[in-house]
Amino acid sequence: MDELRPSASVEARRERQKRVLFRRLKLAIVLALLVLAAVLVIHVAVGGKESAHPETTQTAAPQTQTTVPSQTQTTVPTQTSSTVTTEATEPETTTAPVEDENWKLLLVNADHPLPEDFTVKLKSLRNGHQVDERIYPELQQMFDDARAAGIYPLINESFRTGERQQEIMDKYIAKYEANGLGHDDAVKKARSIVALPGTSEHQLGLALDIIAEYGGDSNATWTWLKENCWRYGFILRYPADKEDVTGISFEPWHFRYVGVSTAREITEQGLCLEEYLGQTG
Ligand SMILES: [Zn+2]
Repeated sequence: MDELRPSASVEARRERQKRVLFRRLKLAIVLALLVLAAVLVIHVAVGGKESAHPETTQTAAPQTQTTVPSQTQTTVPTQTSSTVTTEATEPETTTAPVEDENWKLLLVNADHPLPEDFTVKLKSLRNGHQVDERIYPELQQMFDDARAAGIYPLINESFRTGERQQEIMDKYIAKYEANGLGHDDAVKKARSIVALPGTSEHQLGLALDIIAEYGGDSNATWTWLKENCWRYGFILRYPADKEDVTGISFEPWHFRYVGVSTAREITEQGLCLEEYLGQTG
């Protein structure tokens, strides 16, 4: 038994060692599998990443390439389109002013009748007169400044409809006929004084006949206006030295809005509107 015991204990020890070995082997295998799995996972992950990388770098690269060019393309075009738009807004602002200039510079005379589709938004003044609403602020400023300078202007004529223009014409014809002129002569004479309906600047809402308030000195008013009206965008429309060009006798009372920049230029260069527009016929 003694022999057996040790032998049994030896066997038991061997058995135990085997079991331990087996366990260690199992552990090692498990560990090895785990490591393998880990490696595989990493490999797959890295490989995936690598394959994802080129994809993302490829998609990201083209993306950055497309975003870069598209950015440069879109920012460049947007920049060019923004410069285009600024150019476009500049021309637009220049076309806006040009459009603005168009209404400000609309020439109406015997050779240039009012466009048939002409419309104007009118501003009614306190005294019943009406003007193109766009000129109202500067007109008001001009009158305020005149009063501050001791000049008291009064609007005598402003916007007229074609019908009103015809009424004025008829009144003059009747007056000349009453004075003994035949109809044709009366018409001829009236037409030399009054513009035919459709050819009067007053139909634009941009022209004003201005006199002195309360029977004051109109000459002083006209002198002040002639010197200062350009600051508010107005010109003396029918100067004495331009009768041949305008076809209208000197009218010291008739002022026409053209906008400040044009009014300055016309005044500085001593032009009339026809000359400024190159429409001297
Ligand atoms: Zn007038």
